[in-house]
Formats: sequence, C-alpha cells, structure tokens
Amino acid sequence: SLNLVTIGGSSKGAAADRRSPGELEALALDAGRRLEGAPAEEIAKWATDTFGARFCVTSSMADAVVAHVFSRVSPGVDVVFLDTGLHFPETLKVRDTVAATMNVNVRSIRPRMTVGQQDGEYGPRLFARNPDECCFLRKVEPLERALADYDAWATGLRRDESPTRANTPVVAFDPRKGKVKVNPIAAWTQAEVDRYISRWNVPVNELFKKGYGSIGCWPCTRRTKAGEDPRAGRWAMFEKTECGLHV
Ligand code: SF4
Repeated sequence: SLNLVTIGGSSKGAAADRRSPGELEALALDAGRRLEGAPAEEIAKWATDTFGARFCVTSSMADAVVAHVFSRVSPGVDVVFLDTGLHFPETLKVRDTVAATMNVNVRSIRPRMTVGQQDGEYGPRLFARNPDECCFLRKVEPLERALADYDAWATGLRRDESPTRANTPVVAFDPRKGKVKVNPIAAWTQAEVDRYISRWNVPVNELFKKGYGSIGCWPCTRRTKAGEDPRAGRWAMFEKTECGLHV
C-alpha cells in the first residue's frame, strides 16, 4: 500500500491467531495487576510472549527507549511510527537511526492524504485552525489503521510526564480500540529514563538539547522555558495537551 513504508524488513503482523476482545480484556486485567512494579524488561517480555506477531511498539521518536527495551528482550519486534509529514528533521533522524542500528522492524505509517492534499481539501494550516481535526487525519486514523494488524501495542507513556498521565497503568485493555495497551516504563521517572539512555547509548532527539521539552509536529511544538511543564510546548496556542492518541 502507498500509505505504508516498511523500513528494515517485512511485516509479520497479520499471521498469528487473533483473540476475542473478551479474552484480551481478561489477559490485560490479570497482567496489569501482576506486572505493576515489575521491571520494564519483564513487562516487555510478557507482551511479546503473549501476543507474538500480533504485537507492536509505537514510538514518537522523541527518544527510542521503549523500542530499545524491546529490541533487547524481543529482537525483530515491529516499531510503528506515525509519519505525519510535519515532523522535524531531527525526529526523522531518530527514526532512521533506530531502523539502522537496532534490531527492530520500523514501520513508518503515513496519513491517507499528503499535507498538500489535506491543504487542498481542508484549506492550508488546518493545524492552526482545528488541531483536533488535523491530529485525527494525520495521527489518530493512521494509528487505528496500523493497529488493525495487532492485538496489543506498547507506548512510552509515563506517569510523571503530566497530570493527565499520572494514572497510566502498565497494562490495560483499551475498550475503544478493543486492544491491549502496554506501558512498560509507566512508572519510570525522567532520571531513570536519562540513566537508561546513557547506559545503552539510546538515540535521542537532538531537539531536547535545543530547549524543547516534548516533541511532536513542528507547527504544534515550541521550546519550553526552564521550570515549565515539558508538555507546555505542545499546541501552546490552544487548550490542548494531548493529540487524541492516548485518550
Ligand atoms: Fe496536525 Fe499539529 Fe496534530 Fe501534527 S500535532 S497532526 S500538525 S495538529
């Protein structure tokens, strides 16, 4: 499909048997209780042992910590990246470094429309007028399409990133998607992330060194000031702090 660029190997998402939503919910409930407090590696191992090829990691390529944890525990795992067409070059560089240096299969997923096609249909700079609609077209729908190949997916959400993420479970069933969401580093602090990055020399987005606290598409990301909430630089002109991927 033209909407899908596969880097570093072929997809293996569709082969294995599917589970019913009821089975997935029961699995998630049990694992969420059992794995709270477990090391990220143990959570990652549970996820890939349980879901096999019906599992992927999603990454915004702010850093590659979660992808790296999985590459050690489950080499060859699929890593899904939403290529909105509006990323900073520094972000695409992290994606390409991950694909080139880590034992994972990066799948770069594109929206149905190019930015130019979207400008034609919705008018230019939709992100400045209706960011929810822009995020739906360029992130939410592509993620749903990508996740159709999987029963479960992992994210790098952490409780200490923002108040909206303070109750992030390590494993939970997402009733809207009918899939299991795995957050292996939910309990990690920023200091633990930093330690992991330096211990394993994990690729990190160069924008962090240039004053950005949280990184998304370039039109909706600004630098943050010292002491400011890292996510304050996202959709700064709107009352919006989440793109809808994690609602
Ligand atoms: Fe559009 Fe901004 Fe959302 Fe990116 S973050 S999809 S540019 S509204």
